[in-house]
Amino acid sequence: MTQPGQNQENIKTRCCIVGGGPAGMMLGFLLARSGVEVVVLEKHRDFLRDFRGDTIHPSTLELLAELGLLDDFLKLPHQELRAVQATIEGQEIPIADFAHLPTQCKFIAFMPQWDFLNFLAYNAKKFPTFHLHVETKAVDLIEENGEIVGVRATTPTGELTIQADLVVGTDGRNSIIREKAGLSVQDFGVPIDVLWMRIPKDPALGEMSLGYFKSGQFMVLIDRQDYYQCGYLIPKGQFETIKQRGITSLQESIRGLAPFVGDFVKELTSWDQISLLTVKIDRLWQWYRPGLLCIGDAAHAMSPAGGVGVNMAIQDAVATANQLTASLQKGPVSIKELDRIQRRRLWPVRIIQTGQIFVHKRLINASGNQNTVVPPYIVWLFRHVPLVRRFPAYLIGVGPRPEHIHTKAK
Ligand SMILES: Cc1cc2nc3c(=O)[nH]c(=O)nc-3n(C[C@H](O)[C@H](O)[C@H](O)COP(=O)(O)OP(=O)(O)OC[C@H]3O[C@@H](n4cnc5c(N)ncnc54)[C@H](O)[C@@H]3O)c2cc1C
Repeated sequence: MTQPGQNQENIKTRCCIVGGGPAGMMLGFLLARSGVEVVVLEKHRDFLRDFRGDTIHPSTLELLAELGLLDDFLKLPHQELRAVQATIEGQEIPIADFAHLPTQCKFIAFMPQWDFLNFLAYNAKKFPTFHLHVETKAVDLIEENGEIVGVRATTPTGELTIQADLVVGTDGRNSIIREKAGLSVQDFGVPIDVLWMRIPKDPALGEMSLGYFKSGQFMVLIDRQDYYQCGYLIPKGQFETIKQRGITSLQESIRGLAPFVGDFVKELTSWDQISLLTVKIDRLWQWYRPGLLCIGDAAHAMSPAGGVGVNMAIQDAVATANQLTASLQKGPVSIKELDRIQRRRLWPVRIIQTGQIFVHKRLINASGNQNTVVPPYIVWLFRHVPLVRRFPAYLIGVGPRPEHIHTKAK
C-alpha cells in the first residue's frame, strides 16, 4: 500500500526486464535497438558492486563485434587473458589456450563488471525506446486470469506499477520473479561458498596463475592492476568457524596458496573487508509462464567455476532477443515462443552446469586437508600436448551453442 506522501506511478511498456545484470542489460539493449519499448528495473543505484565476475569471454566479444561495438569496448581499460594457468600443489599447469578459437578476439577481457554494464547502458540509452529505472526494486508480479501482465516495484519516492506484454526475470540467483511466479527449482547443491576480498599487489609482479589449489584449498586471484581481487573458497556454512580461528589464520592460508602476495595480505585486518558470497547451482524445471520468462541466473544459477556465468547470461539474452523481437514489435508473445527459448538454451546450460558440478566434486575439496589429486598423466597431457588445451579453451571461451545477433537495428 502506498503510504501518505508517497507517489503511485503507473507505466505501460512492451517488455519489462527485472534486473540490470549482464542478461537484463544485454536484452534491454537488443530490444531497444530493434525499436521495442523496454523498461529495465535495477534495485541498486548503480552497477558499482564487485561481487559479479569480471570476465568478458571471446564469444561475448564476438557479439559486440557483430553489434559494431567492439572497438569502443576495447578502448575501456581491461586486461587480456590469452591462456589460463593453474598452480596445483605448487606445479604450474597450463589449462586453456585461446589462440585457436574461431573468434576475432582470442582472449578473455578482464574488466570490472560495472564498466561493462555502464557501457551497455550508455549505448542502450541512445535508443529512445530504452528506459532504465535504477533504485527500483521489483516486489511482486501482477497476474490476471493466470497470465502475468506486469510488475509492482518500490522506488525511493513510492510505488511503481509496470504493465507489460512480457516480463523477463533477469534478477539473478535469488530471483524474486521466479519465486513470485511459483516456478519450481531443481537445486544441485554446492559444497562451497566464497570469501571475496581485495589484496594489495606488488606492482613489480608479472603475470601469475589465475587459480591456486593446495591441500584441499582453492583460491582465485584476479589481477586488477593495483590489487588482486581474491576469491577464497570455504566449505559451505563455515564462515563463522573461520572467523573464530582469527584473521591471521586466513592470512596464513592465503599466503600458503600464493606466497608471492607476501606481507600485503596483512592489510586484511578486519572481517569488514571480506564479503561472503554464497554459491549455488540450480535450474528451473520450466523457465516461463504465460507473459513471463526467466533467463540468466534467474533461470539457472551458475557457480563461479570456469567463470562462465556472465557469458551464459549474455547468450540467453541474445537467444531471447532473436526469438521474441518480431513479436514484441507488435504485441504479446506466445507460450510456444517462450518454450523455444528454453529448449534452445537448456542443453548448453546443462553441459556447463554438469561440468561445474564435476569440478566442485572432484577438484575442489574445500572441506579439509586432503591434497588436490590430479592424475600425473593428465598433468603430462596438459603440459606436453597443446591440442588438449583447446577443449577447455573452447568450453570456457565460447561455450556450447554460441549465439549470434539476428535482430536488426531500427
Ligand atoms: C562468487 C561468484 C563469482 C563469480 N565469478 C564469475 C566470473 O568471474 N565470471 C563469470 O562469467 N561468472 C561468474 N560468476 C557467475 C555470474 O556472476 C552469474 O552467472 C551472472 O552474473 C549472471 O548474470 P545475470 O544477469 O543473470 O544475473 P546477475 O548478474 O545476478 O544480475 C541480477 C541483477 O538483478 C538485480 N536485482 C535483483 N533483484 C532485483 C529486484 N527485485 N528488482 C530489481 N533488480 C533486482 C541485481 O541487483 C543485479 O543487478 C560468479 C558467481 C559467483 C557467485
